[in-house]
Amino acid sequence: MGLVFNFKEQTKKDVSLAEFMPLVMPRIVVLGGGESGTGAAALAQKKGFEVFLSDSGAIQPKYKEILERYGVEYEENGHSEDKILNANEVIKSPGIPDKAPIIKKLRELGKPIISEIEFAGRYTDAKTICITGSNGKTTTTMLTYHILKNAGLNVGLAGNVGDSFALQVAECDYEWYVIELSSFQLDGMFDFRADIAVLLNITPDHLDRYDYKFQNYVDAKMRIIQNQTAADAFIFWNDDPQIRREFEKRHSHVAVYPFAESRGKGVIACVENNKIIIETPKGNFDMEEELLALPGKHNLYNSLAAGIAAKLAGIKNEDIRRSLSDFKGVEHRLEKVAKVRGAEYINDSKATNVNSTWYALQSMKTPVILILGGTDKGNDYTEIEALVREKCRALIFLGVDNSKLHAFFDGKTPLISDARSMQEAVAQAYETAEIGDTVLLSPCCASFDLFKNYEDRGDQFKYYVRRL
Ligand code: ADP
Repeated sequence: MGLVFNFKEQTKKDVSLAEFMPLVMPRIVVLGGGESGTGAAALAQKKGFEVFLSDSGAIQPKYKEILERYGVEYEENGHSEDKILNANEVIKSPGIPDKAPIIKKLRELGKPIISEIEFAGRYTDAKTICITGSNGKTTTTMLTYHILKNAGLNVGLAGNVGDSFALQVAECDYEWYVIELSSFQLDGMFDFRADIAVLLNITPDHLDRYDYKFQNYVDAKMRIIQNQTAADAFIFWNDDPQIRREFEKRHSHVAVYPFAESRGKGVIACVENNKIIIETPKGNFDMEEELLALPGKHNLYNSLAAGIAAKLAGIKNEDIRRSLSDFKGVEHRLEKVAKVRGAEYINDSKATNVNSTWYALQSMKTPVILILGGTDKGNDYTEIEALVREKCRALIFLGVDNSKLHAFFDGKTPLISDARSMQEAVAQAYETAEIGDTVLLSPCCASFDLFKNYEDRGDQFKYYVRRL
C-alpha cells in the first residue's frame, strides 16, 4: 500500500505536519531553485516535511545559501527521477512548462502539482490582495503595496515581484500581502482564496504555453476568483468584454468592484469632472486626476484598481491620495531616462506585447521615434497600426530577424531602419530625433534574441542614452 495522504485535511494553518505524522513524513518535491522554489522548500522544511529540491540548471549562490540554512536536500543541473517521482506532492516553479518531460511523467503518475503560492497560502492567515492581468500587474502591485506600506500596514510584497511569498510566511509572516500573480502561478492554484482579487485586463499572451488556445489562457486568469465568497472582493476593468463574459459564466457570488474610465452600468470607480471617484461600502474617495503620479490611460486604470483595493483594505483617503500622487513608478515601464538635444528618451522595455505598446503610444503627446522588435510571440501589429501612422515619425527595428516588422510596417511611416544592437538603435534615434520629439523604446516583443531579458534591454538603452 502506498502512502494515502489527504493534504487538505492535514495541512491546517500553522500546524506542523510532523505533529500529525511522526513516523512517515510526506515527501514534497520542489522543482526549480529560484525565488519561489527556494522559498517553498524552506517553508516545507520548516513545517516538517521530507523535502527535495531539483533544478535542471544551476542554482544561484544566494538561493543555495537559503537551502543550506534550512537544511533542504537539493540538486542542480539535472533531475534525478528516483528522487522526484516518489513525491507525495510537487511544487512547480512557474517558469517550468507543462511540456517539460519531468512534469509529463509526474502527471502520468497522477501526482498533485501546485504552485508556491498555493502551498504558502496554507500556512498564513494574512489578508491577501492578489493582482493579475495581461498587462499592468507589476505596476498595480507595487502601487498598491506603496499605499498600504505608507499607511503603516504590516504588509509584504510577493509573487512575481518582491520576495518569495513562502519565504516570508516562513520567516516573518505579515498581516497583509500584495501578491502579483502570473497565469502560470494561477495554473497551480486550487484551494487558495484571495480576499481581494484584481483582474486588470485579458489580452492574448504566452499562447505558446497554452496550446495556442486563447481560452486556455483566459481560464487560467479567471482562476483568480476561484474559491472567493460573498465576503471577498473582485476588482476588474469593466470595459474588458472578456472579463465580463467569463465572470458571468462562472456564477460567482463574490462582491464586484468594476472600474472604467467613465461612469457606466455597475461601475464604482471612474473619472468624473476631472476627478477620480471611488465608491465602496467602506466609504467614498475622490482626487484630482491630474495629481496622479503615473501618466497614461493604462495607468489611470492601474491607479483606480490600486485605489479600490486600498479603500477596501481600510486605508484613509488622505493616505491613498498622497501615495497615488508620490509614487515613483517602476523601472522599465514608461521610465523617463533623459532629455538630449530637446528630445525625451523613454524606456518602456517591459512592453513585451503589442497591447502594452499600444498604451505607451496612446500616452505620447509628441511625435515619436519608436524602437521596437525582438522575439515575436505571434504578434498581430494591426492593433498599433493607426497609432503608429498618427504618431511615429520613424521606426527603428531592433532584432535579429526584422522581416515580419518590415512586411507589416514598410510604407506606413516616413522613416524605417534596422539596428542589430542597442548601441546602434540609440545612435540612429539620436540622428533622427528633433527638438520636441520622444524616443520611445517599447518593443512589442520579448528580448531574448539580443538581450538576457527585458531588464538587460532597458539597462542597455539607458546606458547608451546617457552616453549621448
Ligand atoms: P506586467 O507586470 O503585467 O507585465 P507592468 O506593470 O510591468 O505589467 O507593465 C508592462 C507594460 O504594460 C508597461 O510597459 C505598460 O506600457 C503596459 N501597461 C501597464 N499597465 C497597463 C494596463 N492597465 N493596460 C494595458 N497596458 C498596460
